[in-house]
Amino acid sequence: MIRSLSCRTEAKLLAHAFQGYAAVRPLTLEDHAILSAAAVGLPLEARARLAAEDKLEAEILLGNPERIEKLIREEDAGMARERIEYLYRTAPARSRKNLEALQEMYEGHCHLCGWEPVRLYEQALCQGHHLHWVSRGGEDGIENMVLLCPSHHVAVHRCNAPFDYGELAFFFANHREPLQYNAHLPRSA
Ligand SMILES: [Zn+2]
Ligand SMILES: [Zn+2]
Repeated sequence: MIRSLSCRTEAKLLAHAFQGYAAVRPLTLEDHAILSAAAVGLPLEARARLAAEDKLEAEILLGNPERIEKLIREEDAGMARERIEYLYRTAPARSRKNLEALQEMYEGHCHLCGWEPVRLYEQALCQGHHLHWVSRGGEDGIENMVLLCPSHHVAVHRCNAPFDYGELAFFFANHREPLQYNAHLPRSA
């Protein structure tokens, strides 16, 4: 079905053709018709609406189950029941553990700009960020997390910057910013 779409790629393997930000291409009306026909009869996606990722992520990292559940309920995020339970029962403890591991591993540096608050102020001021947003189904494993200084963290969320695992970089509207620290991340082929 994907091969029948008009968007073309130089990639030899189909699996490589649709990875990463660089692979994003516009769809034609014909493509739209092909995809619409293929979607008939598929079950409805339970995560169609999105919770506010910055708020949800902060609550998960602070580890307060009641506030996570309240936020999801208030935002009417349209998530499946199992996902909601996972987010407030399992994700907080795992995310916090991973955040501590990252702070230790990188001595608290911002993975983008290298700011080092632990050395400068003896304070772990960088924050955990989920590369694949948890409100969009992202996992809470360490390979989905980076440390960002507060400024970079806000910039990534405000700009809705996608992350490319091939280049290990965030893509903003007019430039890309590669991670300076990335040893814990897998590289896509
Ligand atoms: Zn930074
Ligand atoms: Zn974040």
